[in-house]
Amino acid sequence: TDLKELLLSRIRDVEDYPEQGVVFKDITPLLADPAAFTALTDALAEIARRTGATKIVGLEARGFILGAPVAVRAGLGFVPVRKAGKLPGATLRQAYDLEYGSAEIEVHAEDLTAADRILVVDDVLATGGTAEASLQLIRRAGAQVAGVAVLMELGFLAGRTRLAPALDGAPLEALLQV
Ligand code: IMP
Repeated sequence: TDLKELLLSRIRDVEDYPEQGVVFKDITPLLADPAAFTALTDALAEIARRTGATKIVGLEARGFILGAPVAVRAGLGFVPVRKAGKLPGATLRQAYDLEYGSAEIEVHAEDLTAADRILVVDDVLATGGTAEASLQLIRRAGAQVAGVAVLMELGFLAGRTRLAPALDGAPLEALLQV
């Protein structure tokens, strides 16, 4: 479709970044193009409406850039999930495995309530580890999962399979598949 072609045309492949053999999907050209950034925001806001979300959770850092305008456009609250150690208040923390070692993410516990249905927004779904940990945080906070929405899914990394148990039937929506 026109939307997919527009979005795809504004994503840059950077070879051997951040390490040898990896092709990094760089969305900064898309962000710099107002027509593409607006079209992306509108498409993600439509998913937020369709899934009945009450809040957007954005994953640091590109999930902040995409998720905040989606929240405003859809009339919803925005909640940042941050790398551990950055949030000042009382947090829930979740560890997850990386290819080498592990990482931790956090959310302000009081920002997610039992009345909330959360749509997680990020730019790229790769292995799914980050999104999976965010869903675990949301469920531990007692909130419901409306789904996960990403600009791009890297299908060869099988993030969708990894995410399935944590989604528990909620949708994973990817505007582009690679
Ligand atoms: P995952 O946990 O392996 O799914 O990695 C997803 C996280 O890494 C997301 O927060 C993405 O923003 C980031 N990421 C992984 N690969 C890429 C890429 O090619 N471009 C941009 N971000 C990426």
